[in-house]
Amino acid sequence: MERPIIIGAGLAGLSAALSCARAGQACVLVSAQPSERSQSVMAEGGINAALDLMGEHDSVEQHAADTLRGGVDLADPEAVAALAAGAPDVVRDLIGLGVPFHCEGGRMVQRYFGGQKKARTAYAQSSTGKVLVTALVDAVRRFEAQGLVTRLPHHELAALVQEAPGAAVRGVRVRDAYTGRITQLGGPVLLCSGGFAGLFGAVTTGTTTNSGDATACALAAGADLANLEFVQYHPTTIAIADKRLLISEAARGEGGRLVTLRDGKPWYFMEERYPELGNLMPRDVVSREEAAVLARPDCGGAVYLDMRGLSAHAWRQRLADLRDECVHYLGIDPARELLPVEPGIHYCMGGVWVDRRHRTSLPGLWAAGECACQYHGANRLGGNSLLGAVFGGRVAAQDLLAAEAEAGALPASAVNVSDCDGPLALLPADAQANARLQEILRASLGILRDGPALRAATDELATLLPACASERQRRRVQLARAAVACALAREESRGAHWRQDFPDTRDEYLRTTVVRLEGDELELSWRAVGASAGACGETAAPANQVPACEEA
Ligand SMILES: Cc1cc2nc3c(=O)[nH]c(=O)nc-3n(C[C@H](O)[C@H](O)[C@H](O)COP(=O)(O)OP(=O)(O)OC[C@H]3O[C@@H](n4cnc5c(N)ncnc54)[C@H](O)[C@@H]3O)c2cc1C
Repeated sequence: MERPIIIGAGLAGLSAALSCARAGQACVLVSAQPSERSQSVMAEGGINAALDLMGEHDSVEQHAADTLRGGVDLADPEAVAALAAGAPDVVRDLIGLGVPFHCEGGRMVQRYFGGQKKARTAYAQSSTGKVLVTALVDAVRRFEAQGLVTRLPHHELAALVQEAPGAAVRGVRVRDAYTGRITQLGGPVLLCSGGFAGLFGAVTTGTTTNSGDATACALAAGADLANLEFVQYHPTTIAIADKRLLISEAARGEGGRLVTLRDGKPWYFMEERYPELGNLMPRDVVSREEAAVLARPDCGGAVYLDMRGLSAHAWRQRLADLRDECVHYLGIDPARELLPVEPGIHYCMGGVWVDRRHRTSLPGLWAAGECACQYHGANRLGGNSLLGAVFGGRVAAQDLLAAEAEAGALPASAVNVSDCDGPLALLPADAQANARLQEILRASLGILRDGPALRAATDELATLLPACASERQRRRVQLARAAVACALAREESRGAHWRQDFPDTRDEYLRTTVVRLEGDELELSWRAVGASAGACGETAAPANQVPACEEA
């Protein structure tokens, strides 16, 4: 079998590489940046698994039900059931790799996260992503020494190799970020390249280097993308130089409360409006409530996170890193002062369309982690993304190996190296186009959306296309067009997609939004939740018509 090529070395890519290596299959792990610089490292709050360590009778079924409810019925129930069932084993495996999950009194403990009634989130202080990546890098290095993993950091995906757009994927062309040299590698490809929140520019809590370039390559190759309209705004972020600092949901899980000063008096608006889950409602709900409060003239345009009531034990044992971060970057000690917060772009629920085995619509191409559309539906619950990345990377790698073994050994393609095609810096015309692209996306894909803004964005993005100097920038604009097209077509409000002109959730939109590139034109269709590619809705769908779908 040709060596599988994994694009991206965050948690999904590391997990996939580990699965290949454990099965005795050599693989190549290509990434724009080394694992230690991936966005996975930034994860703070934790990873979900129904381990029921807190004596609350938590269960796999409850985890699945919370995930589906949080995703407002748009996640595939079978895929979510598998995710929830696999979660305890994922966490046990991580423990076996040496992850020091938080313990108290000699016992591992779990915490509350948004949208979940049970304390289900395993964590390592406020640095869960860092310790997970460290453990997986270490595990992968052992296999690297045995020749089972070849790492190619500082290499960007330049293109998927295929005979024509829409045809099977046979390999990749990757570009050395420092020399510009292009290398072609043959083999089945697994995309683990993260989300596209960086496409919005420096208003994301994550890394702006996750600007969806690999997802844009998949779009250009004719792969289906799905649910791109669902962009998650996290309710507690703070603007700092060139990005937004995340205040983890763990802060509210440990007792932090959202408050505003209404006519000068404290108003804990989430607790008043949602007595059951209060500050721990799913993120889409909290962000919308916050946006509404921020717009009120009697609230002074400010929302705060009040953590002054947390115990010294909670600060010392569970949130020490978070407190240090606030003191260091903001000069605010949250144990004593209110933290001013507002919603910020955080996560992409949509991405490359995949089925339950993480196969994309193109033979030879798989996708997992935040770049794929699986598990989260219209809104992701905190703690489910790290899980989705580790679990999804594993499922995808296992399916890839099984599929390739079944297909039989193909002749290994020669690796050839072409001439250097120049450095990666954005050309001046592209830098301008990119800046405009970011403005358009921020204006149209906010917490609250409407038809006129989305139509204006559609027109502006179309005129931006000819202004792009490089293929990479053209692809970015195409990806942005695809996201806006999905948002315009979904004439309802669901999860993270809230249309002021269509404020109701409508049954006829209980469908996956699918978008594909045909030449330069986008083709939009609807697919039944959980259906396989081509099951239905392959005709173009005008914004106001939802074609009937066969059920999965
Ligand atoms: C501040 C913050 C806190 C978070 N906290 C939590 C949390 O507590 N719990 C939780 O569940 N989730 C959390 N998340 C979300 C979670 O961290 C991510 O969704 C998850 O880690 C994604 O993993 P991934 O492997 O899919 O992608 P990433 O970790 O983003 O890795 C992507 C990889 O792809 C590479 N890559 C990107 N583009 C290309 C390209 N064109 N060519 C080659 N390589 C490329 C990158 O270099 C990187 O190696 C948080 C996110 C942020 C930003």
